[in-house]
Amino acid sequence: MLWRGKRLQAITPDMIESRSALVLFSGGQDSTTCLAWALDRFELVETIAFDYRQRHRIELDQRLVVREEVRRRFPEWAGRLGEDHFVDIGALGQISETSLTRETAFRMEQDGLPNSFVPGRNLLFFTFAAAVAWRRGIRHLVGGMCETDFSGYPDCRDNTIKSLQVALNLGMDRSFALQTPLMWLDKAATWALAQHLGGEPLLEVLLEHTHTCYRNERGPRHDWGYGCGECPACALRKRGFEQWRETRS
Ligand code: ZN
Repeated sequence: MLWRGKRLQAITPDMIESRSALVLFSGGQDSTTCLAWALDRFELVETIAFDYRQRHRIELDQRLVVREEVRRRFPEWAGRLGEDHFVDIGALGQISETSLTRETAFRMEQDGLPNSFVPGRNLLFFTFAAAVAWRRGIRHLVGGMCETDFSGYPDCRDNTIKSLQVALNLGMDRSFALQTPLMWLDKAATWALAQHLGGEPLLEVLLEHTHTCYRNERGPRHDWGYGCGECPACALRKRGFEQWRETRS
């Protein structure tokens, strides 16, 4: 193909736009903090989410509310917040017998993993995100995985993500950077990071609009936000909030 006498090249790794990012954005506390982290650093930030037939489907609605609230409350970030991508990977729900995708009580399995672990979930999320980023010319992929204060999911480990980055870059011939800003933070430190990035307005967005509860409950508003207060996700969020509040006072 010719254009003004020059041959158009395919996109090469050094042409990848390094000032843009794609955030795995579920609408929960962690991914909203990651979104703020990315908006603070990159000139263009797009978001992506997945429908894998999760029980906590409210998050798919709340994430759009969160995007709008961020746009409304942070004019300096609004111009950076780009497209949203929504990908249906219902097949993951079909093949997963887990408490996140079935009406099953949350419990620990004999292998030490909680039955909310969806095998391959984060690997698939980043792989689909990379495929979108490849097409969009985006270099940085951002996810809220955390090894410090996590639910025991092996795909949240730093080594898993680093290995996946190598595999994706080899397999797609790119130089993606998989960014996990929460990897070494506990939940209390994640609240502190949110306050640092967006102050009280971001804390209000987190408390009022993000969704964490595995049981899909919004229910009454607690100090730490909405949710059943008992499922593993609510328990983690509640404990982190209380620890952070103690350090503030
Ligand atoms: Zn809950």
